[in-house]
Amino acid sequence: MPSIEYEGSCVCGQTSYTAFDLNDISYCHCEQCRKMTGHFMAASQVSRENIKIKGKIKWFYTHEGSRHGFCDNCGANMFWQNDNKPTISVTAGSIDDSKELRTWHHIFTEEKGCYYNINPKEPQSEGYGNSKIDE
Ligand SMILES: [Zn+2]
Ligand SMILES: [Zn+2]
Repeated sequence: MPSIEYEGSCVCGQTSYTAFDLNDISYCHCEQCRKMTGHFMAASQVSRENIKIKGKIKWFYTHEGSRHGFCDNCGANMFWQNDNKPTISVTAGSIDDSKELRTWHHIFTEEKGCYYNINPKEPQSEGYGNSKIDE
């Protein structure tokens, strides 16, 4: 299968990336993601060797090893990373053209806000879901 290339960028254009073979979109409803994003996290995971990032990122740790990355200039929420994993997640909204990416699953649904509903037809788990590229 040929690699699919994706471009992503922030609001001001200072921070951008090129990535290959993004995963379908995961939605994380955990408390940290909800507070960092203002709602819940929608992101696509990619192997770190398959992404090239340009620009300046400001990282904030929410707990040990887990950090969210924002454009240093405009504050766009663009990345999430667990330091112990070989992957990085890019926010769904930062992807310029998401092509055929679809919903993969919802995780940490136990911590979701009570003011919205998750489509019951979409896969969900109360904690971490199964990951296609982590072992
Ligand atoms: Zn920016
Ligand atoms: Zn989360």
